[in-house]
Amino acid sequence: MSLWQPELETLPRERLRELQLERLNRTIRHIWEHTTVQRGLLEDAGYDGAPLRGLEDIQRLPFTMKKEFHDHYPLGMFAVPRERIVRLHGTSGTTGKPTMGGYTRADIELWKDLIARLACAVGVSAEDTAQVSFGYGLFTGGFGLHQGMEHIGATVLPMSSGNTEKQLMMMEDMGATVLIATPSYALYLSEVAAEKGLKDRLKLRVGLFGGEGCTPEMRRTIENNLGIIATNNYGLCELTGPGVSGECAERDGLHVAEDHFYPEIIDPDTGKVLPYGEKGELVITPLSREALPLLRYRTRDITRLNPEPCRCGRTHIRMDPVLGRSDDMLIIKGVNVFPSQIESVLIGMEHIGPHYLLFVRREEAASPGGRYDTLEVQVELAGAELLEHFALLENLRETIRERLRSILGLSVKVTLVAPQTIERFQGKAKRVVDLRNTDASR
Ligand code: ZN
Repeated sequence: MSLWQPELETLPRERLRELQLERLNRTIRHIWEHTTVQRGLLEDAGYDGAPLRGLEDIQRLPFTMKKEFHDHYPLGMFAVPRERIVRLHGTSGTTGKPTMGGYTRADIELWKDLIARLACAVGVSAEDTAQVSFGYGLFTGGFGLHQGMEHIGATVLPMSSGNTEKQLMMMEDMGATVLIATPSYALYLSEVAAEKGLKDRLKLRVGLFGGEGCTPEMRRTIENNLGIIATNNYGLCELTGPGVSGECAERDGLHVAEDHFYPEIIDPDTGKVLPYGEKGELVITPLSREALPLLRYRTRDITRLNPEPCRCGRTHIRMDPVLGRSDDMLIIKGVNVFPSQIESVLIGMEHIGPHYLLFVRREEAASPGGRYDTLEVQVELAGAELLEHFALLENLRETIRERLRSILGLSVKVTLVAPQTIERFQGKAKRVVDLRNTDASR
């Protein structure tokens, strides 16, 4: 497989660190001279704007949080005048105001290269036809991947999300070879395609998935249904969008584009930087942004960094697929639970489909003042045949309960429901139903 920018993607680590320090100091100067919010954070932390002597010194700088974006909505974080901004994007939050990201021409050019890198890593080229089934609009996924695909010369089919029948028709008629979607929508598309027996009529060979996490089991299911190889990519609107990191063909971690982003892992409770290999919250400092320079942005995503050399030859550090968001992490009876752990158990099992919902409830305990949270895992059966066999159903339920208990270290309630009863998602999946603060839980 090939590299889009071979020299930059394989820079010796020592040279890479020099480049990072140089760009970090340029970013600090940009922030000091052209921002008020970010400069204010530096001043509050007692920093005088002097260049750092080493990359480790970044640990003395303050974090930037999503809160800053909210407090200075809409564009208070921007470091360039409005006439230099050529594009705005926003987070896909369903409630409240979105978090806004902005781009200069140079920011857009950089973004195109970041996307081209992750596509090129699985052999996407000008010969491909890429079906973009990400939502277009404020969400960075649609336009981000679209312009990156055009940048490498691929033919782009901008389908956006939804209207599954038409998606599959166009996929077949246009001979799409690359599918770009959230993994949950790709899963849904792949199920419908499998039902219709379309696999052999489609020319798809690559999937580029992003916008949310994808467990290895979920990926295998999609790959089998569609006969493709899929990679995951990662990014946040605040940090440009997709392209911050992406898997190479080895699919053993996502290479962070380290010439443009400096990653750290911290303990989300104490803010202390953790050594490589330890699991914690990902903090990213973009090193090349013009419109929106940030220092140490707390992503809330839980992962870990692996500095070992990769077989693909890229020298950029790899991050694990995101295990969950620190804000999505459920704490049930004192145990940390991520929905992705549950998914990894369910997707490998016979008789059940990949669709599930998690219900969190608060129960009153018998002891005085006692309240505790419980988790119910609702799982959809793959076929209706088991519904008639009570003993088999009970057996399956018990097996799921046992496997979840061994992975999570926690007893959960398991309910099996008939096929096609759990809502399907065309964008990001919503798996957790939190009933703790509603009357329904009492
Ligand atoms: Zn690699």
